[in-house]
Amino acid sequence: AWNVRYVGRFAPSPTGPLHAGSLVAALASWLDARAAGGRWLVRIEDIDPPRCPAGATERILRQLAACQLLPDEPPLLQSQRDAHYQQALDDLVARGLVYPCACTRRDIDAALAARGLVHQRHVERPYPGTCRAGLNGGTPRAWRLRAEEYQSNQPSAGVNERPDAMFLITNAGVRWHDRRLGAQFQDVAAQVGDFVLRRADGLWSYQLAVVVDDAAQGITHVVRGEDLVDNTPRQILLQAALALPTPRYLHTPLVRGSDGEKLSKQHGAPAIDETRPLDALAAAARVLALPAAPPDATPAQALALWARAWGETYNRAP
Ligand code: GLU
Repeated sequence: AWNVRYVGRFAPSPTGPLHAGSLVAALASWLDARAAGGRWLVRIEDIDPPRCPAGATERILRQLAACQLLPDEPPLLQSQRDAHYQQALDDLVARGLVYPCACTRRDIDAALAARGLVHQRHVERPYPGTCRAGLNGGTPRAWRLRAEEYQSNQPSAGVNERPDAMFLITNAGVRWHDRRLGAQFQDVAAQVGDFVLRRADGLWSYQLAVVVDDAAQGITHVVRGEDLVDNTPRQILLQAALALPTPRYLHTPLVRGSDGEKLSKQHGAPAIDETRPLDALAAAARVLALPAAPPDATPAQALALWARAWGETYNRAP
């Protein structure tokens, strides 16, 4: 019998095969679901076809299967979910919560520079709001959520506040609880601004697709890499705007290369070797501070050991 109150997922972008970093997210989400007696789903986030080489999805599914990380349903493919994203956008259009934007990257840089904000690598810069009141004759390119207005229309902290709430949206920003990192806060309006839901190239943004699909798959618990932690407040805001439920979140430690950078396909991280699944799993388990499995264990035995250890750490208060 499933714990019907737990549905987790692993949501890789098939821009290449799984590497040591993405396997950590896969393993952690699987362990969390198993430790809770819940279901575990896989969603292939292939919304950006030019960045997805042929065969990458099949390779990822083979790598997961070699590691005995087997989804409880056939994987959901974002490339086939256009109508659902469109419906969510139409809903927001009808409610006046989005607007078209004509800005190019260069326009945005210029508007920010005029405010004294210089572009820094890895630092999110807020959208300056140029098209919020109209396109000024420009050609509509992207669609943006009225995040600033939505946030400022929320009540102040203290109003209807429940101390045990997993998240709270106030006019100051989004407060939320991460199961590993603890209390988190972001002023989305000031730090991100009105963010993109549909990109200028016609593709759906990660934020819109992930929010629509987490809800469509009934996801109750999101476990993913810490590189995504600053996306979570945007997703919580968008869930609220679309009247969708907010899952619980846990962000895992990142695997860093010898240069200290996060491992990523863009940085040429090598694929995990699916002919040696226990080695790949053991490396991921070390990142998650799980106990070493006996060297002669099968992947299934190692997974059972780690699921117990995981449950003792994270599933005390689900
Ligand atoms: N597709 C995203 C990635 O591979 C992860 C999305 C998520 O877990 O929310 O980085």
